[in-house]
Amino acid sequence: MICPKCRDVASFHEHRDKTFSTLLGDVRVEIRHYYQCDHCHHGHFPGDAALGLAGRRISLGAEAVVTLAGTLTNFGQAARKILPKMAGIRFRESTVERTAEANGERLGKLWEQGHTMASARDWHWNRDARLQQVAYISIDATGVGQQGLGGTKVE
Ligand SMILES: [Zn+2]
Repeated sequence: MICPKCRDVASFHEHRDKTFSTLLGDVRVEIRHYYQCDHCHHGHFPGDAALGLAGRRISLGAEAVVTLAGTLTNFGQAARKILPKMAGIRFRESTVERTAEANGERLGKLWEQGHTMASARDWHWNRDARLQQVAYISIDATGVGQQGLGGTKVE
């Protein structure tokens, strides 16, 4: 293979195993092809890279859920209560803390660089009975009070 670091030739060295934590539980991959660059000596697992697992122990899906759980409460409760109930997975408190804080830091840097969660676009605002622009927003997704046509009450 071609070394992603220096573009020289990386030669196959051996098979190595690794266990990844996923939303389906721990998954042990026993045959991972390990290549080492003949020039810069960096090691590479092209299969891990193809699966989005390069340099990771936790899958992207599990990481997103662990991060979300870490934002809901303290890291201990997230590890002991939230993750088992939310996804049937278990992680140590320190893993939840490390994962959530790393993603929070990454998100903070993206915001500092001007990135947003979605692209900006013009919004078509509705008008109420007094022709004022209005928006209806749900925070908990359980109910949104709205005004009907002509300002009528919506049941
Ligand atoms: Zn290299």
